Amino acid sequence: MVKTKIVIDYSKCGNATGGIDPRQCSKCLQACDPAVFVRHMAFNVKEDNPYDPQYWQITPVWLSLCTHCGKCVKACPQKAITVSF
Ligand code: SF4
Ligand code: SF4
Repeated sequence: MVKTKIVIDYSKCGNATGGIDPRQCSKCLQACDPAVFVRHMAFNVKEDNPYDPQYWQITPVWLSLCTHCGKCVKACPQKAITVSF
């Protein structure tokens, strides 16, 4: 079985870490047919209230579904996604 690795650079994507707000982009989610990514609140932010709903993040969760099509990498305007296998 191919082991897929997907890395997102949160300095480019993620409004808690200085990148853009993934809610206003989400192009990776739209481009990915098998729906590998999940958009969620960023629980790990070092803010007074880490549960503040203004902080969001994209995480590649369902790696085994990835077909290595590269659509997410191409769609990301921030060049924040790396897919390797
Ligand atoms: S490479 Fe294709 S299948 Fe894999 S996460 Fe990106 S868009 Fe989805
Ligand atoms: S396409 Fe790139 S910048 Fe847009 S939400 Fe996905 S990872 Fe973030």
